[in-house]
Amino acid sequence: MRIGVARFSHETCTFCPNITTLADWERGGIRYGRDALCTEGEGRSYLTGFKEVAEKGEGVELVGVLRADHPATVGMGSWITTEAFEVISERIVEGLKQAGGIDGVLLSLHGAMAVINISRPEAELCRRIRRALGKVPIMVTLDLHANEDIELANACDAVFILKTYPHLDDHEIGATAARCMVETILGSFKPAMAFRKPGVVSASVFQASNAYPMKIVFDRCREWESKGVYCASVAPGFAYADVPDIGASVFVVTNGDHELAERCAQDLSDLIWSVKEALTRRVPNAKEGVSEVINMVKRGEKPVVIAYHNDRLGDGTHVLKELIEQGAVNWCSTSIADPKTLHKLREEHKVGEIVTVSVGGWIDPISGEPITITGRVEWLGPADWVETGPMGRGAKMHDDLIAVLDLGMNRHVVISERLRAPMSADPLRALGLDVDSFDIVEIKSRVHHKAFWDTWSKADFPVDPPGTTPADLRTLHYENIPWDVYPIGEKWRRKK
Ligand SMILES: [Zn+2]
Repeated sequence: MRIGVARFSHETCTFCPNITTLADWERGGIRYGRDALCTEGEGRSYLTGFKEVAEKGEGVELVGVLRADHPATVGMGSWITTEAFEVISERIVEGLKQAGGIDGVLLSLHGAMAVINISRPEAELCRRIRRALGKVPIMVTLDLHANEDIELANACDAVFILKTYPHLDDHEIGATAARCMVETILGSFKPAMAFRKPGVVSASVFQASNAYPMKIVFDRCREWESKGVYCASVAPGFAYADVPDIGASVFVVTNGDHELAERCAQDLSDLIWSVKEALTRRVPNAKEGVSEVINMVKRGEKPVVIAYHNDRLGDGTHVLKELIEQGAVNWCSTSIADPKTLHKLREEHKVGEIVTVSVGGWIDPISGEPITITGRVEWLGPADWVETGPMGRGAKMHDDLIAVLDLGMNRHVVISERLRAPMSADPLRALGLDVDSFDIVEIKSRVHHKAFWDTWSKADFPVDPPGTTPADLRTLHYENIPWDVYPIGEKWRRKK
């Protein structure tokens, strides 16, 4: 049994300024053949899930084709060029054809890829593979931030989506898909899939799987799975891609029971519609948020994590500005992406020197003004660590160049080459920072960081300064979305 495997994954922020080109993908690294299956030093993932099932199954061979999941952009990339999609898709299709004798295809996709001139890229890739290989099963794993619609359901045999946010079950969902594939090829499983599109869009910051309202949705999925559904998937979707299939999707896979799949999918769709208002609320801006956090620290409700959730470029300075101006102490600003300042520091300075530099606010005016800071260089060089937190546990991590400035009064600013959100204390300890001495840690993340940082902090405080991916979706200008999608379609905007 030969199962072709490809991974082509991107969460495209079409509100970010810089398009994602083939050169970005090539610089980030595209791997082929056996190399595309190599997961050494990476921690658990969709691919390790595929591999676990293949190793256990007798006569199951995974045929690695291509892996592209890391375009080298400073922050999140915007629209993927048509060329990049065409070239990478063609390499996947050709790789599968040349491998020969493929009995099934496992695709590890994201679901929120947005490509210029190709409106539903994941479905398009599946259709091209189907045309090339004929009638072999094609099964797809997706991130929970996937935007999909009926076209993907029609273009493949089964879809499996992460069940956790923070995403902790990549390996498990990979294994679920691979098991289904193996049994389908053996003939003991006949995938029956149902699909629904509830018409609800929500900001990522409100989608945590262990908090209301998504918790009740995911709990309901597990209930259906205890009643005979093989896998009930709900993706709340990714609001920052201006695409026609934006918003939540429901995919339900059963073993041959179409009626059960339809009932389950309808129930989950109705449930999401019923909690739609809870998927949006006002989040304080940086000034209000930092002021409240300083008061919390004074009251002894500390330490606090400030989740600067909407800086997807990495150069955002709104929170740093407030921390400095409002006189906060004992804090760490964990990432300002500024390669120019970083390289200047390396060329002209050494650890221990006092420097004055301008950081951030260079990619887009929405990120805020550059901030001039004076401090002692306390780290300047590469950083290596092994992740021990729940996100990516066991992964060997490396940064080529990082700087940390000590501004005095236990205030620290980390300067990085690209957007960097510490998923645990490890990446900060790797820079010599005494994490437990901080009252406030600012992290440019929405929910993933909570898997570790909620165990460290007394409170997680999201703030919503100007940014490319705001909590209030109505402030964004969409051009490609359906008229009736809640709460941002024209129908709902008029009602206000
Ligand atoms: Zn995600």
